[in-house]
Amino acid sequence: PQLANQIAAGEVVERPASVIKELVENSLDAGASQVDIEIEKGGSKLIRIRDNGSGIEKADLTLALSRHATSKLSSLDDLDAILSFGFRGEALASISSVSRLTLTSNTLEQNQAWKAQTEGIEMAVKVLPAAHPVGTSIEVVDLFFNTPARRRFLKSDKTEFTHIDEWLKRIVLARKNVHFTLKHNGKMVRNYRSANSQTQYLQRLGQVCGKVFAETALHIDCEHSDLKLNGYLQSPEIHSNHADIQYFYVNGRLIRDRLVNHAVRQAFNELNLTINPSYVLMLTIDPYQVDVNVHPAKHEVRFHQSRYVHDYLLQALQSALIQIHS
Ligand code: ADP
Ligand code: MG
Repeated sequence: PQLANQIAAGEVVERPASVIKELVENSLDAGASQVDIEIEKGGSKLIRIRDNGSGIEKADLTLALSRHATSKLSSLDDLDAILSFGFRGEALASISSVSRLTLTSNTLEQNQAWKAQTEGIEMAVKVLPAAHPVGTSIEVVDLFFNTPARRRFLKSDKTEFTHIDEWLKRIVLARKNVHFTLKHNGKMVRNYRSANSQTQYLQRLGQVCGKVFAETALHIDCEHSDLKLNGYLQSPEIHSNHADIQYFYVNGRLIRDRLVNHAVRQAFNELNLTINPSYVLMLTIDPYQVDVNVHPAKHEVRFHQSRYVHDYLLQALQSALIQIHS
């Protein structure tokens, strides 16, 4: 199983940022409202994620570390309407095959926390009593220690940190009710407090996208039968170009899509503005109207009615822009 897990790890685990992505998505799937991330040396020495989610029962700890063990799919039909992040059940197994991983967890029903550790080439799992509040902590030490080729592929601590930071920005914009912190080498470097009001969300928007964007962006909140769009769009009066502030989410999941880009640019072009506008937009759509499983990295989607979605976006953006431009 070790080799199979390492091969699978090649797909899931490319660098510290991909480990953090998988672990934090698990925390969010578990309903956490607080997620604390701690890393050392850009994550190559240590990644520790602590959440206050529902936790994992003692009996399920070993299972959670084995391949294709997911608690998130009850039937194959569910694949059509995946709302939770994880559904392949191989992230933990893969990560533990290329690092020294410890999983510590407690649930409301238990009066005691337990921790699981994989050891040796056989990847035997050892379960021991531990102290931990309800929730889960996962510690990943010495990533790729046993796959030197991949270890060499890691960039400088600073570059790996930047990948983590950029990924975190994407997630904090979409999960406003969750408090996220990030510590690097013992120092708190990011603190995104949970945003329960629009004012608080604008603060978070400022942390991620800069003050200018947060203070000047147009607020969009638009609903049309089965589609809902809300978020923030660069004001046409601000003529700066920040191609890096382009976040588009479908049902809470960040995606990149040409159709979306096209709609945003077209809305600006029609005002004779040829900038590449910044935006943070969330589209809510019937999950049956979209395929999210197009690519394992899950940044791509396929809309069943792409023309309809495009035209809806264009209209929603146009009417927001026209209001301010007239
Ligand atoms: P997947 O997320 O695709 O189900 P993973 O390998 O990422 O697969 O996780 C395996 C299982 O371990 C999950 O289905 C879940 O039951 C459990 N799990 C992992 N992380 C957490 C967490 N932070 N809180 C609660 N349960 C978790
Ligand atoms: Mg997962």
